[in-house]
Amino acid sequence: MNLEKHSRTITLRCPTCAGSTFESESPESHSVTCTGCERVISREELRRENEEN
Ligand SMILES: [Zn+2]
Repeated sequence: MNLEKHSRTITLRCPTCAGSTFESESPESHSVTCTGCERVISREELRRENEEN
């Protein structure tokens, strides 16, 4: 059983530049900014984009 929480660490890839480093304004923010291309994307959309690949 894996109870590890991934609320802060995002290991998904940016659909625009394939970068894997993101930053958010606050831990509670629903959107993150890609540090590679500065695209702002919601965590939910980011997850969805990665599932499609
Ligand atoms: Zn990017």
